[in-house]
Amino acid sequence: MKIVVLSFFVFLFAITLIACNKDKSITHVSPKDSTLTEGNSKGKMKGSKMEEKVVKSTDEWKKVLPKETFCVMFEKETERAFSGKYDKFYENGIYKCAACGTPLFSSDTKFNSGSGWPSFFKPISEDRIKNIDDNSYGMHRIEVVCAKCGGHLGHVFDDGPKPTGLRYCMNSVALNFEKAKEKN
Ligand SMILES: [Zn+2]
Repeated sequence: MKIVVLSFFVFLFAITLIACNKDKSITHVSPKDSTLTEGNSKGKMKGSKMEEKVVKSTDEWKKVLPKETFCVMFEKETERAFSGKYDKFYENGIYKCAACGTPLFSSDTKFNSGSGWPSFFKPISEDRIKNIDDNSYGMHRIEVVCAKCGGHLGHVFDDGPKPTGLRYCMNSVALNFEKAKEKN
């Protein structure tokens, strides 16, 4: 009986060895498969991230956007201070990108900065916007663009109120306000 049990364990051990060798051979082959994996992950990215971006040429945006919105968002102009429709506007709702419609700011984070432009202390989500170094007009500022369509929104400064200390100084024409639904 002991011999049978022993030979069984030897058999198991031999199987384990074979299995290990097999594993090794798989590991050895795997670098060849890496192109396949890369292809798959690229496909995945296309499905999740890449397709989320709105890519239009400047000419295409010019055709579909109001003139002032196009000039600010795609020629990086700035609307005149105190001229924008959302400068002194404090209704409850969401401010969306005027070009692609992505919800960017909530009225909960809007404050009166006195600058003449609608100001927020934070976006709805960090990934909705993109910060870009801007050295135009002989000064260093941080430009804020819509992460989805790349449209210029305004600039962000570090003299905002708590809790972030940031002031997202936006152009009204780059935003579209959507009123919050009445709660029943
Ligand atoms: Zn956008």
